[in-house]
Amino acid sequence: MGREGTTPDPPRGCDFVVVGAGIVGLAAARELTRRHPDASVAVLEREQRIASHQTTHSSGVIHAGIYYRPGSLKAQLCVAGARELYAYCDEHGIEARRTGKVIVAVDGDELPRLDELERRGRANGVEGLRRIDPGELGEIEPHARGIAALHSPNTGVVDFGRVAAALADDLERAGATIHPGCGVSSTAASDAGIDVAHARGTIRAGAAVLCAGAWSDRLAVAAGAPAEPRIVPFRGVFLRLRPERRHLVRGSIYPVPDPELPFLGVHLTRALDSEVHMGPSALMVGGRDAYRLRRVHGRDLLDTLAWPGTWRLLRRHWRPTLIELRRAASRRSLVAELRRYVPELSAADALPGFAGVRGQALARDGTLVDDFVVSHTERALHVRNAPSPAATSALALARLIADELEAQLG
Ligand SMILES: Cc1cc2nc3c(=O)[nH]c(=O)nc-3n(C[C@H](O)[C@H](O)[C@H](O)COP(=O)(O)OP(=O)(O)OC[C@H]3O[C@@H](n4cnc5c(N)ncnc54)[C@H](O)[C@@H]3O)c2cc1C
Repeated sequence: MGREGTTPDPPRGCDFVVVGAGIVGLAAARELTRRHPDASVAVLEREQRIASHQTTHSSGVIHAGIYYRPGSLKAQLCVAGARELYAYCDEHGIEARRTGKVIVAVDGDELPRLDELERRGRANGVEGLRRIDPGELGEIEPHARGIAALHSPNTGVVDFGRVAAALADDLERAGATIHPGCGVSSTAASDAGIDVAHARGTIRAGAAVLCAGAWSDRLAVAAGAPAEPRIVPFRGVFLRLRPERRHLVRGSIYPVPDPELPFLGVHLTRALDSEVHMGPSALMVGGRDAYRLRRVHGRDLLDTLAWPGTWRLLRRHWRPTLIELRRAASRRSLVAELRRYVPELSAADALPGFAGVRGQALARDGTLVDDFVVSHTERALHVRNAPSPAATSALALARLIADELEAQLG
């Protein structure tokens, strides 16, 4: 199969083709092989390695499902997905540690929002979620300060890259094939099947599932789906805590998010290797793979600038945009924000970390599309918005994808 480099040419025909070998595409392909053991499944990936983008540039947090509007796809699939992910990791010998998380309110204005998070968490069935006072906060995270907090003991950490590799192993065992270096340029559906044109030829499949992450809108629109939502890339930079200061954080320490911009807000998370990540910033960038700030692609930039939603978002949220610009530019400013929760932190404790780019779906009216979005064109299902917690939710999201595809195909 080959996770990397050149692989045998993809087949000319198969029952299901999955585009994108991130955690969502791999989980969807695995679900299809489980439901249809006799069907042939091929996964096409543009990069030379599987899971090269968001899946391996994340915080690695197994979210418990607290934040999401009850009834939303995120709420349902995150709670179920986290449970399934822990079980999957157990079965496959992948380390997944329940390190716990506190969401900390530091001033009175944040209390109504903390109440709302508690309400949502309970409505979503998040196990073990508890309101705690400053004394209990001090027992769980001795260096954190706040006037109230929520504690989620089931939040954990994992290496999503390892999960993706295990999913790829499952696929291989089930007889599916994965083809790196096979970027897909277009699809064309007819009564006879769907022709998927890729870098090394064309596959005719019975149906296609497109899980292209930050590039998902391109293939969907090319297949005849509506232009909305557009993906706009946000680069997030993490810092690392100096090794001798890692004792400041035991699990994860999160702020109370702004409900309008829930993906903003910096947190501290102790990863499996004990490294403590701090961040991320969130800066709109000119490349959907802008791991380096200077990486700009004309087409990505043009797509962002030509989208009316971009300008509406910036007009409506100019203040947080400026704050994010400052955080992206200055380590000191990011640490200053974290010092609200961990007062002992200083800028000298921070070392450079890594960057990730999130594909955020943006509506024409400038609203950030919060929930997961899947849509359909003839013989194809498109995952059009799979931001955090899609890595946590991948196994449950895969079931939804297979259910929807089966319903579509009758
Ligand atoms: C900074 C950051 C922190 C995050 N933290 C968390 C977290 O703690 N917990 C959590 O649950 N989630 C987190 N997320 C979100 C999570 O990483 C994503 O939701 C998840 O990885 C999405 O998986 P995916 O498979 O859809 O996308 P990706 O992993 O990006 O995979 C998409 C794949 O499609 C391929 N592709 C694109 N176009 C084509 C094409 N034309 N032809 C063939 N292949 C193509 C790409 O090369 C890529 O491999 C975070 C994300 C970021 C950026």
